[in-house]
Amino acid sequence: MSTLAPWQQRAYARMADAFAAGRLGHAQLICGPARLGKREVAVRMARRVLCEAASGDVACGACRSCRLFDAGTHPDYRFVSFIPNREGTKLRTEIVIDQMRELAAQLALTPQFGRAQVAVVDPADAINHAAANALLKTLEEPVPGRYLWLVSAHPMRLPATIRSRCQRIELRLPPADEAAAWLSAQGHAMADAAEALQAARGHPGLADDWLRAGGLSLRKAVAADLQRLWKGEAAPAEIAQQWAADEHADLRLRHAADLAVERAAGLTDPRHARSLAAWFDRANRSRDLLRTTVRADLVLVELLVAWRALRGGPEKRER
Ligand SMILES: [Zn+2]
Repeated sequence: MSTLAPWQQRAYARMADAFAAGRLGHAQLICGPARLGKREVAVRMARRVLCEAASGDVACGACRSCRLFDAGTHPDYRFVSFIPNREGTKLRTEIVIDQMRELAAQLALTPQFGRAQVAVVDPADAINHAAANALLKTLEEPVPGRYLWLVSAHPMRLPATIRSRCQRIELRLPPADEAAAWLSAQGHAMADAAEALQAARGHPGLADDWLRAGGLSLRKAVAADLQRLWKGEAAPAEIAQQWAADEHADLRLRHAADLAVERAAGLTDPRHARSLAAWFDRANRSRDLLRTTVRADLVLVELLVAWRALRGGPEKRER
């Protein structure tokens, strides 16, 4: 098993301490920015809680429970996430009520190994309205030895009634030197790590993703595409086709949204900064849309037309 990053370890230690002291609540909300490794913390803690021979904070890795856990067949552990749609053609974009009902039924059972029942729901903010009501019922009737952990990068999207019933474990962005040291330990050159970390605003998980996905070349290509659109040297439809052509559309939008923020930060005209901020929001909504069944190139072309339309704004007069 890989070593937890220091920021994961801190969150894990808080949960482990609470568990050792008998204070670990029935419901936990494990939150913090995406790609910091929240799920890994939850899964590892589940393994620890279920382990039959743990010493201290860590599961033994050898007992019957650990072996079943590692094989993905532990009867007292449930991981809930997106499941395929009815046609089986792609994953749903919501966690639905049947999944929450099944979970409630599971948690009502006596643990087969007698220790505990643990369920992890990730991403918890994808629970739809009906499913949230079913989940709330489960949270309202806590049973000893039952643990329900909700993992979310967007906890504010969860109903307040659910949030208020959970203890909160938060993963935070680490200090810059810790993030750089971790990236270096992942095998990235120091200079690349520093550049990626700066572009990712101190987010080591994101910087790592970018470096693995071909360094910052994708970001530079996105910046160049936006610039060509701005100058009228390329058509939105043409760029949209390119952006939708592979699996990096989401990452491109993330870079594009980020580049808009960077651009806005360098502006003195508040109206123009505001229109860039509006475009940033739009880019993020488009990222959400890319996860639905809407055609990616259509989402992208609309967004890029809006980008080009920003040219007509105050910046033209600045030149
Ligand atoms: Zn064990």
